[in-house]
Amino acid sequence: MFERPLNRLFEARKGERHGDTVSGHLSWQNMPELAQVTENPATDRVNVSVSFRRTDDNVLAMHLRVQGAVSLICQRCLDVMSHDVSGECDLAVVTSEEFLARLPDGWEAVFANEEFFVDVHAAVQEELLLRVPMVPKHAESCGLVVQEGTEPEEKPNPFAVLAQLKGKQ
Ligand SMILES: [Zn+2]
Repeated sequence: MFERPLNRLFEARKGERHGDTVSGHLSWQNMPELAQVTENPATDRVNVSVSFRRTDDNVLAMHLRVQGAVSLICQRCLDVMSHDVSGECDLAVVTSEEFLARLPDGWEAVFANEEFFVDVHAAVQEELLLRVPMVPKHAESCGLVVQEGTEPEEKPNPFAVLAQLKGKQ
């Protein structure tokens, strides 16, 4: 189901008419901003399903379902950890700021061009960036490499060194 690479551009209105779900994979090399904040190799992938529909309040909505995990550095033990970023979201497809302003409350939006083409790679990347924790930590307590309060004490005090130099003059 996810063996094909996911197309970058989707025509939202056509997707809505057809009503089908398109699935494919998206690799890290297509998500440069995500690559900057994660440890995943460029060949790592997430699986993505995309569909479009018209809601009861007349919003052209894109539904994204993503399955995958990001690799992050645990800020407690400094080991690489895997963090699940799987999930789903609905985004209103808009083509202008004016359109955006008219959206019913509660909608997150994604911009499309005038022909309603949506950059799904960028949209998935945005969603995943939101799911990367600011301070990643293993769920269970992990081994501490440097325990707090045990900083080496023999670090030379720069002022002491300065005083010594002055004393030698
Ligand atoms: Zn850890």
